[in-house]
Amino acid sequence: MKNANAGIGMTSQRTRDRLITRLRDKGIRDDRVLQAMRVLPRHLFVDEALASRAYEDDALPIGYKQTISQPYTVARMTEALLANDKPQKILEIGTGSGYQSALLAALVKDVYTVERIPELYQQTRKLLHSMNLHNVHCKLSDGTWGWENYAPYDAIIVTAAASQIPDSLTEQLAIGGRMIIPVGEQNDKQQLLTLTRTVAGFEKNKLEDVVFVPFVNEGKN
Ligand code: SAH
Repeated sequence: MKNANAGIGMTSQRTRDRLITRLRDKGIRDDRVLQAMRVLPRHLFVDEALASRAYEDDALPIGYKQTISQPYTVARMTEALLANDKPQKILEIGTGSGYQSALLAALVKDVYTVERIPELYQQTRKLLHSMNLHNVHCKLSDGTWGWENYAPYDAIIVTAAASQIPDSLTEQLAIGGRMIIPVGEQNDKQQLLTLTRTVAGFEKNKLEDVVFVPFVNEGKN
């Protein structure tokens, strides 16, 4: 029997497999991350008009001057977050399309994610719910202040570029926990940094140069 959707589904899986091959070629090594991305339908996180481009390794617009991050960057950040002990409870700042949240949901126990744009928050919360991702908890707020109710977190991922790392966020990191955040001014080179909290303080490492939409600090709680 002919089924119009079956064709689209097959194309998606094939193109998704090609994307995974490309990510491997670019140096992503963690099979947990690659396998989770292989089955996650990225085309559902972008507008239908862009669905055919969803498995190219590019950032795409999601409205409100925001973008769904490039798959390579998502993979790299997720791999870095899982590199040590596997985190159970993760805080994400910048829910956006929800793709990064959904990927983390497949890999860890609980994901807490904060978005400041009401329309994106509403739309993505609905999408994640419809995908039965009940371990993603969404909040509408300025992520500068993290999400104190559920702190401390084993890991924190910031998916917008900040000019500096907000102290209010690092304080919500558990000892031994790790934060990953792009830091730098817009139109300038931003650097992806990891920050590991130790008993003595924080250890900082540079991963690589990146380009992200700005982290908007509204300066209020
Ligand atoms: N992880 C997202 C990336 C979206 S782009 C994805 O995979 O689609 C970055 C997002 O961060 C945008 O939705 C933007 O609105 C949000 N953002 C920027 N500054 C923020 C802040 N201070 N608090 C919460 N969200 C913020």
